[in-house]
Amino acid sequence: MEDATWKKDETPYLIFECAKCKQYLYVKATQKGKKCLRCGRTHTVSTIINTGEFVNGITAAVEMVKKRQDEFGKKELGHTPEFRAFGDFTVAVKKLKDIAVNGDESSEDTTRQFRKMLFEISAMYKKFPIYIIEVMADNYGIPASELKNLAKNFQKQGILIRLDDYSYTVKMK
Ligand SMILES: [Zn+2]
Repeated sequence: MEDATWKKDETPYLIFECAKCKQYLYVKATQKGKKCLRCGRTHTVSTIINTGEFVNGITAAVEMVKKRQDEFGKKELGHTPEFRAFGDFTVAVKKLKDIAVNGDESSEDTTRQFRKMLFEISAMYKKFPIYIIEVMADNYGIPASELKNLAKNFQKQGILIRLDDYSYTVKMK
């Protein structure tokens, strides 16, 4: 693991609200743009640079997104919206075989990245809301379209575990 570089990360990130779906996102300040993971709206950094706030490092970025999301959830909905957005994780058991990694290189790589990401998340949080995974995935080059199946797969393996309060924890094997 690259714990040293992880902790020393001083990359500036912009935290901003998606103009379309109102969810909070982060983007590397040096990046040109960012596609919203939830609604698909593309944001150009130069046009949102005055609407957001800056933090240094991916850990701070994730924390800030989490904080803003929690505030948004409490204000607008009375609860955290991401639990619904990401689905209930109710797994159709018969489908699990199809979800299993099918051996092609890219999905193996994505699975490895997902595992690495879970490890990093578990180093940051004992338990966490599921949207942390959405928020972090981008940093690991994991396509949003694969997140749900990866999460299901890792739940099936008992690595990603849903707790009674609908937060999640990671048990590495
Ligand atoms: Zn959006």
